[in-house]
Amino acid sequence: MLDLGLDLGLSSLGAAAENDYDVVIIGGGPAGASTAIYTARADLRTLVIDKGLTAGALGITTKISNYPGVPGPVSGAELVEIMRQQAESFGAKFITDKVVGLDLSSEPKMVMAGTGTFMAKAVVLATGSMGRTGSVKGEEALLGRGVSYCATCDGAFFRDQDVAVIGNNDEALEEALFLTKFAAKVYLLSPTPELKARDFLAHEVAEHPKIEILLGTRLKEIVGETLVTAVRVQPRGGAEQTLPVTGAFVYLQGGKPITDYLMEQLPTSAEGCLVVDAEMQTAVPGVFAVGDLLCTHIKQAAIAAADGVMAAVAVDKYVHGRQKVQIDWN
Ligand SMILES: Cc1cc2nc3c(=O)[nH]c(=O)nc-3n(C[C@H](O)[C@H](O)[C@H](O)COP(=O)(O)OP(=O)(O)OC[C@H]3O[C@@H](n4cnc5c(N)ncnc54)[C@H](O)[C@@H]3O)c2cc1C
Repeated sequence: MLDLGLDLGLSSLGAAAENDYDVVIIGGGPAGASTAIYTARADLRTLVIDKGLTAGALGITTKISNYPGVPGPVSGAELVEIMRQQAESFGAKFITDKVVGLDLSSEPKMVMAGTGTFMAKAVVLATGSMGRTGSVKGEEALLGRGVSYCATCDGAFFRDQDVAVIGNNDEALEEALFLTKFAAKVYLLSPTPELKARDFLAHEVAEHPKIEILLGTRLKEIVGETLVTAVRVQPRGGAEQTLPVTGAFVYLQGGKPITDYLMEQLPTSAEGCLVVDAEMQTAVPGVFAVGDLLCTHIKQAAIAAADGVMAAVAVDKYVHGRQKVQIDWN
């Protein structure tokens, strides 16, 4: 019994250390991945949490030919993958997960994601600006009453019930697969005639006995008085249908900075963009922001990557308590 207790104690200590990082980067697009290249190369223990390769602006882009050094054309997902592999080659760790909350007042800072809580001396926010802008009829009124943006947070409430997932990217497909653990049936409604996700995910959802995919189908309304009871949808060129569901998980993209997980711990501009100093540091010391989250007037992958380089050098300075930045020229 004593041994068992000791083992449990040691293994939980091990788990805690395993989740401790010098820097946690939220978002693995060009901004986050290039930050990781530099922080990992500076020997900082680096974790990148990203909710899906095709959930970001670069990830959804079909052709890129203007990224310096990569004549292309390559798909945005291929370009991000190259950046991630480069960061991994220096020791950065990438996980597919969605960050749902942060505690920036604690020291170290806490990053809450679906698979666990991670501790970090410094945090870099690189979640881009593909946040949802509009809302369909019923979405706002039924938020938290069957409408959700997070299957990992809310999926268990829908055990043995029918639900709809609305979206076509990696994130939507990952969440649909996650929901099959609980739901009786998952309708996957893609607004486009084909899914815009990686092949292995598209294959997995297509093969899953609990998932029915409805391609080229637009969400018109989330229906319900006090709780969701159905979704009203319109297939391209077809008649409207009403699908009886109790949950509607919406993963449609827009053009708003993604900051919901910050829970108002940082000041933003009137447009919701994060504000940083010349070293990409926000109002909270040790918390940095890069890329499209800043709403720089030119939104390009090379600019997001450059932000990442500046933040990484400042993170290194912050973690080591240095006064001056130190650059590795090798
Ligand atoms: C259609 C289109 C075409 C474009 N074409 C070009 C082009 O040809 N050349 C060019 O240079 N630029 C192009 N751009 C712009 C370029 O893609 C962006 O400027 C760049 O991707 C911004 O990088 P980012 O890392 O800040 O954000 P993103 O690329 O959007 O990456 C953000 C990442 O954060 C992740 N994320 C978001 N929220 C969370 C969360 N809560 N938890 C975990 N992860 C999260 C997402 O999964 C995503 O991978 C294009 C953009 C679009 C939309």
